[in-house]
Amino acid sequence: MDIDFSEIIYLRDPEPLTLKADYQQFLLSLMAPTVIDVAGHDTKKCRVFTTLLHGDEPSGLIAMHRWLTANSKRSKPTTNIRFIICSVDAASLAPLFSRRFIDGNKDINRCFGTGNDHSDYLRANLIEQAIREVAPEAIIDLHNTSGSSPAYASGSIITANVLSLASSFCRTMLLSDFKVNSLMEQKFNCPFVTIECGDSHDQQSHEIAYQGIKHISYCENISNFHQEKQLEIMYEPLRLQLKKGVHLSYSDHDEGSLGLTLKNNIEQFNFGGAQQGQMLGWLDCNLLANLQLLNSQNKNIVENYFSVRGNQIICAMNLRIFMATASKDTAKRDYLFYVVKSNN
Ligand SMILES: [Zn+2]
Repeated sequence: MDIDFSEIIYLRDPEPLTLKADYQQFLLSLMAPTVIDVAGHDTKKCRVFTTLLHGDEPSGLIAMHRWLTANSKRSKPTTNIRFIICSVDAASLAPLFSRRFIDGNKDINRCFGTGNDHSDYLRANLIEQAIREVAPEAIIDLHNTSGSSPAYASGSIITANVLSLASSFCRTMLLSDFKVNSLMEQKFNCPFVTIECGDSHDQQSHEIAYQGIKHISYCENISNFHQEKQLEIMYEPLRLQLKKGVHLSYSDHDEGSLGLTLKNNIEQFNFGGAQQGQMLGWLDCNLLANLQLLNSQNKNIVENYFSVRGNQIICAMNLRIFMATASKDTAKRDYLFYVVKSNN
């Protein structure tokens, strides 16, 4: 597929005809990353929602479409709202919302702030520019988790305003300092929060995204609205990764496979964590040398968090686990899951 990475389309206060009958038809009518502006009462201020940075994470788009179609009958939002729909081409490939990005291209959420200006980097720059040009007072980046999971927020800076924004969506926030050239790491001079709305196939995830958009777009004052729910903050999540070339499989018992075999039901640990001694899977004779858990100094500290019983990988302490996924592609390319030491 030939992609014009320099293309970005702007729509203003779209009519029902433009929005089509449903979000699928609307997505298929888009030709490129699309910016949608909606006028608010206060036109000097703007709040930005980014959606579909990952083409297989539809909750933000679904919620945005619901808000836009409902909004034509409702009052104006408090301020201008800018929605940015990013990976339209990847999301539109059949079956819809099945590709994180197009084969041969890059994950755009690894392409921000690099100084490069070709292909996916150019697109990332245009999206960043579309955010900067409205000098937003808040940015919310909507994603889905890569497996079955409750919703949670993540950010690289936590302030009262960030917590307020996050609390419109969820009850847990991860403070992370990953350097992966994501949108979240860029400096916009306003509160920024990434929301992982839960599983992409779960209706509840779309509902969470919709309620959050609705709340934030009609909230009077973003700098002093209170926390909707008490948030639990998790510090320093680390990413458990396979070392290069290590084989991965999933099973409910030890099949003697090479590399790492994760338990089939690994995603269940996204709910409520894993206790010390909990078994997560099986390793080949290389044991923990198959894995890496890099700290902020780039040191592999996998043995501080996990240990081995026979050839089983077990938790060396009580852990909270996020983003565990039974999607082999994501697990092999990016990470097996995020992990945080738990106090309880
Ligand atoms: Zn994502």
